[in-house]
Amino acid sequence: MKIAIIVREETMMRCSGGGCLNAFFQRIDSFARYAGQNDLELVAFTHNGGDMEKKIATLLKKGVEVVHLSSCIRKKDPNYELIARKLAEYFSVVGYTHGEEHGDTGQTIIFDKVEK
Ligand code: SF4
Repeated sequence: MKIAIIVREETMMRCSGGGCLNAFFQRIDSFARYAGQNDLELVAFTHNGGDMEKKIATLLKKGVEVVHLSSCIRKKDPNYELIARKLAEYFSVVGYTHGEEHGDTGQTIIFDKVEK
């Protein structure tokens, strides 16, 4: 299964994504759900700035099924839910990457892809 990670644009100015990538490669935190799944591929790691429509089109072309929104989006982006709902039109969405499933700033969003 192919997945993508989308992180917070502003945070990318100073973060190299180590927490997200470590959680992915160790299959911990939000990626623990894939334990034992040998076909898992991380095919995109990008931020939520710029042309999101273009990015979504690229993710679809790559066959992404699940998008993980970073824990920093969950914590700091006032549009967290809006972004998650938009992405859920195309993908299943897991609203965090590393750390606890339930963050200190409210409920973590986990959406299945909206069936049309
Ligand atoms: S979730 Fe953590 S590691 Fe990932 S981009 Fe945000 S601050 Fe960096």
